[in-house]
Amino acid sequence: MIRWISLLTSLTIVVMLCCHCSSPDQHQRQTHLKEWLADNGKIKTLSTTCMVGDLVVRVGGDYVDNLCLIAPELDPHSYQLVKGDDEKLAFAQVVFYSGLGLEHGASLHHYLEKSDKAVSLGDEIAKAAPKSLIIIDKQTDPHIWMDISLWIRALPAIVRTLSDHDPAHADVFRANAEKLYKEMTTAHAEVKREMATVPDSKRYLVTSHDAFNYFARAYMATPKELGEDSWQVRFESPEGLSPESQLSSKHIQEILDHLSKYRIRVIFPESNVSKDSLRKLVHAAAQRGIQVVVADTPLYADAMGPAGSDADSYVGMITHNAKTLQQYLNQQPDAVDQ
Ligand SMILES: [Zn+2]
Repeated sequence: MIRWISLLTSLTIVVMLCCHCSSPDQHQRQTHLKEWLADNGKIKTLSTTCMVGDLVVRVGGDYVDNLCLIAPELDPHSYQLVKGDDEKLAFAQVVFYSGLGLEHGASLHHYLEKSDKAVSLGDEIAKAAPKSLIIIDKQTDPHIWMDISLWIRALPAIVRTLSDHDPAHADVFRANAEKLYKEMTTAHAEVKREMATVPDSKRYLVTSHDAFNYFARAYMATPKELGEDSWQVRFESPEGLSPESQLSSKHIQEILDHLSKYRIRVIFPESNVSKDSLRKLVHAAAQRGIQVVVADTPLYADAMGPAGSDADSYVGMITHNAKTLQQYLNQQPDAVDQ
């Protein structure tokens, strides 16, 4: 009965929101929400980000209906619950989230901490590989999906949770996870290979916010840098672990020194983060006589790409990043020419 009341309330919200659908993306999301709310015997999962949701969908296959809570154009770090979210959270049988402090908007964070149906993939990875976590200024870097070999460690928790809800299809969930495991392992090796085609002297990355530490460690550092724990030299960003962090002039100067020292001539926007800090960086660099450009193609860090793009899946977004970086970084002039 409670579930039916919840369903009716949610359907009312769908109808209300649909009156204001202004873009094809929003319309598509509302259609998906309507389908998700339909009772079809599948496990109803709600995932905070689509990087979480993509794994859940792949493992759950035909027996899971997943909805992503946070739209790709929004910042998952600061996301606060909006009208209609309470009903989605109430309707979901399981809520999967990234964790490790990613979803720190107060209202969502509060829900995830209290709910007994919320599963943190980050916590599962932290348990399986505690030494793999990156700590910056005593804070755990939550962007753990940026290293495929770590994100893959979330699969057992998804299989276990879905099997608890639908034991009859536990074998299917296990088989789907094994297939995805192989795909992700192959993608991890391919991204490594792709980044290795960029010479060491050009393999430096600067983006909007601190989302690429795991990527830089896994795919950009040299063995020597990994051994000496100095791999962080491969990645810099003007904003901190969250895009809403304040930009200090001291940090801008440090990044300018970094651009100059490593002869970095291209910096990268992220799909769902304002380019303001990058523009400030380009302007400040020009005043110092350093010519830096912002790449036309965005990288995907805190969100996947739009449906139909090459980054509309988890593996797709990471391979898109590798291909984009390979293309732009290789185009930078050699050090002797500068
Ligand atoms: Zn982030």
